[in-house]
Parts: sequence; structure tokens; C-alpha cells
Amino acid sequence: MMITKPTNDPAMRNLERGIRFEIERLILIVSVLCLVLEAGLCFYYFSIQDLGQPLNTYIEFRILVPLGVNILVYLVTRFSNRSENSTDSTKNRVCSFAGLIMLGVISLAHSYFIPLWMLPAFSILFCSIFHDDFITKIQSGVSFVFVLYSGILHIYDYPSDRNDTIICIVLAELIVLGVSFMSFKLENYNERKFVISERSLISQNKFKNGFEIDSVTGVYSKAYLSEEAGKILSQTNELDPSGLAVLDIDDFKEINDELGHDKGDIVLRALGSVLSGYIDESTIIGRFGGEKFVVVFSNGVREDNMNDLNQMCREFAKKKFSFTKRTVTLSGGYVWFDENIELEKAMDKAQEALARAKKSGKNRVIASDESEE
Ligand code: GH3
Ligand code: MG
Repeated sequence: MMITKPTNDPAMRNLERGIRFEIERLILIVSVLCLVLEAGLCFYYFSIQDLGQPLNTYIEFRILVPLGVNILVYLVTRFSNRSENSTDSTKNRVCSFAGLIMLGVISLAHSYFIPLWMLPAFSILFCSIFHDDFITKIQSGVSFVFVLYSGILHIYDYPSDRNDTIICIVLAELIVLGVSFMSFKLENYNERKFVISERSLISQNKFKNGFEIDSVTGVYSKAYLSEEAGKILSQTNELDPSGLAVLDIDDFKEINDELGHDKGDIVLRALGSVLSGYIDESTIIGRFGGEKFVVVFSNGVREDNMNDLNQMCREFAKKKFSFTKRTVTLSGGYVWFDENIELEKAMDKAQEALARAKKSGKNRVIASDESEE
């Protein structure tokens, strides 16, 4: 059966994005922990004169080489996660291999401690979450090589244990094979789940033609958002309040006029990538045309919604562009509802609040029931 990577759904892409940033954070934490642990062990063994090798060799191979590799994989992951040009699939692959290389190098630096040979296998299992069989295949192959290399280093360090080490290598490779097999199963299971969810979306007439996503910004299209927002607003009641906001880039006409339409599109894309990060099961965000974006919160907790909106604005204002020094900002108007309302009326109220945000100096989000000062 041909299984393709299924959905384009921004909510799913946002989930994967979150996992990639978690991996980036983990790489940093593990790097720092390794450095501290290594330095501590080095100091301890040196003080009891049981280093087993010259101090400079120990520092070089157990501390500096892993540190160098860890810094490198962290930087590569960080750069890839923030790249505007690469696809989600490439970013998933870069993250997965960065994590694998980090764990592999740690296992090599500690080849004397046999249980650590299994570290790369963790990476195979964990990264099956990306349901990309290219990642699983390459990780399995590379882990196999890492274990073999750890074993060879162990034999080199402890020649008298040669036979026992060979048995350990065979067992460790069998475990890697087992983990790889499990990861393939898991990854297929994940993939099938996505196919099923995509089918259910198609059966509801969603994600059928590709018109559901705005191709420039990657957030939902106006048509899809209107439909979903209509449903959420019609189900709003006192127990189930909702919120809606309109966000608009400040002085976008000036940006277009000064820098050209192409650069304006790059700014729009950057905003799309910021906003996509906030889409989840209770927040849908779509482009309503031009430089106007609409956020619908099915979970209408006023303070939380306002915090999210302010956070979106701050994050966007931090974006740097190679072609201009200016800071590009956003303004927003927010409305909170505890009774059902039509989308158009809700939009009118949010736009009124947006107009007040623009009038009172831009770069802010104003709720319809608050004064601008
Ligand atoms: P304000 O701060 O009051 O929002 O001012 P503004 O200049 O952002 O507002 P205005 O509505 O006058 O300008 C919006 C501009 O957005 C006009 C149009 O050229 C530009 N625009 C609309 N859609 C696109 C697009 O898809 N790409 C680009 N590059 N520009 C667009
Ligand atoms: Mg504008």
C-alpha cells in the first residue's frame, strides 16, 4: 500500500514544529549536562589518579570532541528550525539526525560503559513520531554503525575482554534491529492514523482541493476559516465563550511602496510563520485577504486570548529582515463573546477595536470593551 505523507493541516504542522523546538532544547540541555558531568568525572578520576589515560587525551576525547559536536548539532538544529526556506520535512530530518549524532558521539566517548551503546537507538524510537520512513531507515543504519564502532573502541581499550565484547556487540546490534523494527511499526501506525484523519477530513469536505490553506502564508484560507469560525461562534454560550481578533500589519502600504511588493510578500510570509505557531485545537488562524488575519479562539478566556495576541505581536515585531532595518509591527482588535453571534457581526466589532488600536498609535491589541489609553 502506498502511504503518502498526508495532511497539510496547519494544526498538525504546528505540532511537529513544537516537537522540533523541544528537540532543539533537549540538545542544548544534554550538551550542558554532559559538559558538567564530564568535567566533574575528569576532576574526580584525576584527583584519585585513576584517569586510565593521559589528562590531555581524556580532555580531548571525552570533553572537547563531544562538546564541539554538540555545539555544532545544536547550531545546525537552531538554524534549520528558524530557516524560512526549508520545508517542514527537511526540518524534521535535520532535527532527527542532529539528535542521533549527538547521542552517537556521547556513546562513542563512553564506549567503556556498554549500556550507553544503546543511546542512538532511543533516537530511532523517538523520531518515529515524525512518521517519515526515510528518517527511520537512515537512523537505523547509522545506529548500527555507531554500536559497531563503540564495540571496536571497547575492544581496543580492553583487549583482554575481546570475546565478551564481541558477544555484547552482537546483542547490542540485535537490540538496535529490534528497536528499528518497533520504530517502523510505530511510524506506520502514526502514518495510518494520519491517513485516517485525513480521510475523515476529506469526507467532511475539508482539505480536499488544497484551497483550505493560504499558499503564501501557510495559515488557513478565508473560506476554511469562515466555515470553522461560523460553527464556533454559533455554538458560543455562557458556559462556552469564544473570542475573535483581527490582526493587521502596520503601515504595510509604506513597506510595499518603499521596498516593493516582493519584499512585502516576504513580510507576509514571516507573519504567517509566526501565526501558524499559535494554531492548535482551540485556536484557528486564517488570512482574510491582503494583510488582514483573523484569529478565532474556541476557548474564550479573555485574559489568555489577549496574552496570546500580545505574544503574537511581540514575536512578529522581533522578526529581522535582510532588506530593511525597520521593525514591522501589528495591530489587533479583539472581541469576546458569551452568546452566539454571526461571523460578520463579530468581525465588525473586532474591526472597530482594530480601528481604535490604529488610531491610538498602532503596535497594540485593543479589546472592544476597553479604552485605548
Ligand atoms: P495601517 O497601518 O493603517 O494598516 O496602514 P497600511 O498601510 O497597512 O494599510 P492599507 O490598508 O492602506 O494598506 C494595505 C496594503 O497592503 C495595500 C496593498 O498594497 C498591500 N497588500 C495587500 N495584499 C498584499 C499582498 O498579498 N502582498 C503584498 N506585498 N501587499 C499586499
Ligand atoms: Mg495595515
